[in-house]
Formats: sequence, C-alpha cells, structure tokens
Amino acid sequence: MIREILTIGHPVLRRRAREITRDELAGAPVQQLIDDLIDTMRNANGAGIAANQVGETLRVTVIEVNNNPRYPYKPQIPLTVVINPVIEALDDETFMVNEGCLSVPNLRGEVSRFVSVRVRYLDREGNAHDEIKRGLTAGTFQHECDHLDGTLFVDRVSDPTTFSTWEQFERFHRAAFIERISRFVERVGS
Ligand code: ZN
Repeated sequence: MIREILTIGHPVLRRRAREITRDELAGAPVQQLIDDLIDTMRNANGAGIAANQVGETLRVTVIEVNNNPRYPYKPQIPLTVVINPVIEALDDETFMVNEGCLSVPNLRGEVSRFVSVRVRYLDREGNAHDEIKRGLTAGTFQHECDHLDGTLFVDRVSDPTTFSTWEQFERFHRAAFIERISRFVERVGS
C-alpha cells in the first residue's frame, strides 16, 4: 500500500526510531510496513525511504536504485531491506554530493558524506549482513540511516548557498554536478 510521505516540519521526522525485535520482524505488521515502504518509495521514484517518513518510528529503511529518473547518475542498487542498521565510516575520506529527499519537497543541496562505510543490518527474513558500501551507494545508505536518527540532509548542508529547487538545479547546476560526480563514480566505484 502506498503511504503518505510526511514532510519536513512533521515531528516524527525528528524522532529516533527504535530497534525492531526479531519477533516483531517476523510478524505481520512489520512485514506489511516493509511492503508499504517499497510501494511508497517506488511510487515516488525515491532511491530509498525510511519508516519515519511514513510516520513509523521503527528502524527500517528500504533502498533501491534502478534507472531512477530523480537521480539518473546513481549506480544501481538492488532492492535492499535494511533492519536495525549500524553504520560506521571506514576512514575519514569524504565527498560532496548533491542530495534531495522525498520529505523535503523541491529542494536539493550539497552535503558531505563518507566515501566508504561498513553497514551491519538484518534483512526482512532476519538474516544478518555485514557489508562495505562505497561512493554514491555509501551516501544513499548514510542518508537513509540518518532518517532513523531524526536527521535530514538539510542539517548536513554546510553551505546554504548550495540550496536549490529541482528546477533551478536542472537549469544551472546539473551539468557541472553530473560531470563531477561521474568522475567520482569512475574513481571509487559504488
Ligand atoms: Zn530522505
């Protein structure tokens, strides 16, 4: 079921979501929430969505990039259901990336993200994963995990002059950004 996506200003986006127990994960309500997150993300052409964004303070986010029209430069990410993630930077290396968010309509901005992260999580069947993510994919995981701690990308925009509507991004900034980020993707992979 497609759910309403809550927007910046709604207090639930600023709450820390809580861990899901294994019993809860196996139960129908959480499995339904996962299905709803997938439907809602795909309907909105999002690269990911976290439970807070549909009003649930549980640590679950879903991520998928598949020829995404909102972010055509992003490397593909197969559908990934991420429960109780623990994310940590592997080193200090960061990169600047232009982000948007389904909960922050019509705004983009430049944020700093770690290039390499280790992420440990459970999938929807309860299997444990321990993976390294790099580049734009690492950035996507950081953005979604931030949601579960009540953090939005706008909090991480250090230079407010980079804020842009999607229309003005397309007109004035997209070409230079795509050139820069394509070189980055070639260098670090994803
Ligand atoms: Zn977001």
